Amino acid sequence: METDVLVVGAGPTGLTLANELLLAEVPAVLADKLPRRSTLQKAGGVQSRTQEAFDQRGLLEPLLAGGNHPVGTAHFAGITLPLTLDRHRHPWRSIPQVEIERFLENHLAARDVHVWRDHELTGIAQDKGGVTATFANGRVVRSRYLVAADGGRSTVRSLLGDEFPGRPGTVTLVAADVRLSGEQPKTHNRSEDGHWAAVFPLGADPQGRPLHRLSLGGPGRSLPRETPITEDEIRDGLRAVFGDRVQLAELCYARRITNAARQAARYRHGRVFLAGDAAHVHLPIGAQGMNTGIQDALNLGWKLGAAVHEWAPEHLLDTYHAERHPVAAAVLRNVQAQSLMMDHEGTRDPDLMAARDLFADLTRLRDVQFRLDDLLSGMGIRYPMPDAAGRPLVGLPAPDQDLGPVRSHELLRRGRGVLIDPADRFAKVAARWQNRVDRVGGGAEPMLIRPDGYVCWAGDPDTLESALGHWFGAPS
Ligand SMILES: Cc1cc2nc3c(=O)[nH]c(=O)nc-3n(C[C@H](O)[C@H](O)[C@H](O)COP(=O)(O)OP(=O)(O)OC[C@H]3O[C@@H](n4cnc5c(N)ncnc54)[C@H](O)[C@@H]3O)c2cc1C
Repeated sequence: METDVLVVGAGPTGLTLANELLLAEVPAVLADKLPRRSTLQKAGGVQSRTQEAFDQRGLLEPLLAGGNHPVGTAHFAGITLPLTLDRHRHPWRSIPQVEIERFLENHLAARDVHVWRDHELTGIAQDKGGVTATFANGRVVRSRYLVAADGGRSTVRSLLGDEFPGRPGTVTLVAADVRLSGEQPKTHNRSEDGHWAAVFPLGADPQGRPLHRLSLGGPGRSLPRETPITEDEIRDGLRAVFGDRVQLAELCYARRITNAARQAARYRHGRVFLAGDAAHVHLPIGAQGMNTGIQDALNLGWKLGAAVHEWAPEHLLDTYHAERHPVAAAVLRNVQAQSLMMDHEGTRDPDLMAARDLFADLTRLRDVQFRLDDLLSGMGIRYPMPDAAGRPLVGLPAPDQDLGPVRSHELLRRGRGVLIDPADRFAKVAARWQNRVDRVGGGAEPMLIRPDGYVCWAGDPDTLESALGHWFGAPS
């Protein structure tokens, strides 16, 4: 079997990438070792930037339709950031990962892209022309590129010999999906003696009853990862924080999570790329892991499309590592800082408490809340780009400009570049890239937007042609 791109792993990262490749009209195979879609409850929180990116593909409305997806207030280390609630068009929202996976898989299947189930990748060999992948069931696939979206224990990464540098877990926490009875708890709760519980809304169960994601920790609660989690353990954790005010009505799912923090040193190994948890893992605080993986896929998809269609400039595939590695490195750093300040083991160390109190005091400032929100919403991600000096928009997610009949984000649904040309000045130069970039009038600010929604040129007529060549290759 031959294809252009083999995507290994049909979690949120692999499914998003398969959709990007479909949009770019790239023949691809999406393979997963599981015989059927996982029902494991993992992520629940979806960042503003991920929702915006789904909107730029026309996926957000149908994803949200009919479901119960409460919006929430972002927090940093359990300190809520209320001033950020109305900052973005799409506030932080609860959408269970299983729902996102089901939605994307159905969306792909309706377009005749089917996940190859029961396909466990066991071997890869790459040469100048492509990659040969071997599966446990004996199948062999030859592709021009291979993307490892096979999760934190990535087989592909191991086969590449990548050591996955970082720190092993030193503490475990309980994460559980539950129904609760009694008082309605706040989001972040802490007892005098260091026990804590975080409670996030997760929508409703099939009977319409509210579900919550509960995290528990405190003195003596960090148990070996393989220790089974019982209802008694959850009840005990709730009692330590709430007394009798909040009780467990039903335990739907629970797992122990650790604060291991690791990141691959290189996201590109020749024709093989790492994305999502295969490239970075960390404690799930602040809804960042799945979101970072989905955004890896959005960054890589159109670049692979350009390479397969043979118009990618030489450097384009390398910008995937250059842009996305620093993003996950920053996520790992903020998670480390949050984890420390949350005092997961309930030490109540006086020095730590003093630092935390001081930090909490600072977070009353609007600018501090906005800075932290830049980290947690994905909206503050700024990619390094040429000619960005003095151009504050270049490298950032494009604002959604009203262009009369459409919004600029809607124009990105074709998966192509968009040149906004309010004064109709750039028709001649843009015509040379018309098979890769759509030029539109209207709007207030001239800008060139990449297919993944990032501004790559803004305003300076002298640099437009070089920006088009830099991101969209030689004109045809
Ligand atoms: C309790 C918990 C809560 C979380 N909450 C959040 C949150 O609120 N927000 C957030 O953004 N993130 C959260 N995360 C993190 C999030 O779940 C992960 O970051 C996300 O699942 C990563 O997606 P992925 O597609 O990269 O990898 P995965 O979801 O791990 O998918 C990898 C896929 O690869 C397949 N696979 C593995 N090996 C092979 C092989 N050899 N051959 C073929 N297929 C293979 C697997 O079967 C799997 O389907 C949470 C995680 C946990 C555990």
